[in-house]
Amino acid sequence: MRDTGDFSCDNDSVSPTPAQQARAAAIAAEIARLAGGFALPGTVADRLTRCGHPNCRCHADPPQLHGPYHQWTRKKNGKTATKILSDDQLADYTPWFDNHKRLRELITELEALSLAITDNDPRWNR
Ligand SMILES: [Zn+2]
Repeated sequence: MRDTGDFSCDNDSVSPTPAQQARAAAIAAEIARLAGGFALPGTVADRLTRCGHPNCRCHADPPQLHGPYHQWTRKKNGKTATKILSDDQLADYTPWFDNHKRLRELITELEALSLAITDNDPRWNR
């Protein structure tokens, strides 16, 4: 039974805890700071490869593979797109990859925090 006369009831709306509000503010502040830079999606992995020339050293026994190459992989329109980065490109872009990764982590944490708050919304029980 609800007391319809009690308009100030704390159980009448969503109410993040002070700790949840503080964490959300900290996440927002870090996102704002990171958003001042660039953010590149995808992952970089160093790869050794074989080429298409059958007589090349990469097909010898034992094989001497080419590389390592800095292979940047990302999703582009639902497909995997790959590019090879030079050493100086990798050096320039690494902070951008790091920014993107951290922004995604922060968004994921903000989503989890928000879902926890909605789970405790007393209005589900009306
Ligand atoms: Zn080769």
